Amino acid sequence: MKPPAFEYFAPRSLDDALRLLRDLGGDARPLAGGQSLVPLLNMRLVRPAALIDLNRIDALFRVQLNAGELCLGAMVRHRTLERDPTISARAPLLAAAAAQVGHVQIRTRGTLGGSLAHADPAAELPAAMVALQAQFVLRHAVQGERTLPAATFFVGPLTTALLPEELLVEVRVPPLPLGTGWAFVEFARRHGDYAIVGAAALVHLDANGRIDLARLALCGVGGVPYTASWLEEMTRGARPDREIFRDVGHRVSEAVDPAGDIHASAWYRKRLAAIMGARALEVAAGRAGQSHGIAASH
Ligand code: FAD
Repeated sequence: MKPPAFEYFAPRSLDDALRLLRDLGGDARPLAGGQSLVPLLNMRLVRPAALIDLNRIDALFRVQLNAGELCLGAMVRHRTLERDPTISARAPLLAAAAAQVGHVQIRTRGTLGGSLAHADPAAELPAAMVALQAQFVLRHAVQGERTLPAATFFVGPLTTALLPEELLVEVRVPPLPLGTGWAFVEFARRHGDYAIVGAAALVHLDANGRIDLARLALCGVGGVPYTASWLEEMTRGARPDREIFRDVGHRVSEAVDPAGDIHASAWYRKRLAAIMGARALEVAAGRAGQSHGIAASH
């Protein structure tokens, strides 16, 4: 299948890209890794008049630490998330989630910003970012810059808070207490498929081995990543044993409201949410406090 005709621009600076987006209005689309956009073009599900290719804008590829925050440019590839030593040390949850995205060829081209802006409800990175309580930096040629928490960026299936002329330029991942354990687990029919249900978890234990931080976010259980906002209260001071995580899993299963589709029924997704949620927390708790926990307290 061939895409409909479009104009193509390859700006070398962020300002030029933003200016083009403003001048072309809603008729232009940013092109990142093309792993989702190009199939949509080829199937003629989207028909933009122009593509603004972001691949020559060096500033969008940066990985840097800024006052303890991990700052990731929107064009950082999935493969970089998976393998970059700074990212693995500061946000191993992100590296683990990225490793679950498609196959290596897709991860080599696909980008962080593309995955977040595409907002597929089954995608791994949006759930990981919600668990990490990341902040998304959006920029517009006229309205300037604004920052949104990951949890409010995702509005619905394939829908975000981005305005048509706005770009996602950076993701800021705040530091976690030293020794925070992490896990990303998912169930997919075949290796490399989108998750049917996936779960991102973070757990920190106090000096007595009791939970003093627990976070859980899931993909594949609704239009946007599900965040267990009640989890901190339920688990604070509890021992990190199988019973508490099983109870959390039951509560997650009751709380989520997935739709059934050709991949899985709603009932099946709810059951999987309980199992994946509990498993992710158990693995994260097992890693908490170990030498390979997150070393990013400052
Ligand atoms: P593009 O396809 O270039 O863009 C996607 C959308 O985001 C477009 O609408 C584009 O205009 C917009 N956009 C891109 N960058 C920006 C920006 N900076 N600001 C504003 N808007 C922007 N994904 C998963 O999560 N899990 C999987 O298991 C998985 N498996 C896959 C298997 C296959 C065979 C394929 C082809 C893809 C798979 N993907 C999977 C999708 C892959 O992760 C894509 O990389 C991702 O969805 C989109 O990233 P991209 O960089 O390719 O973006």
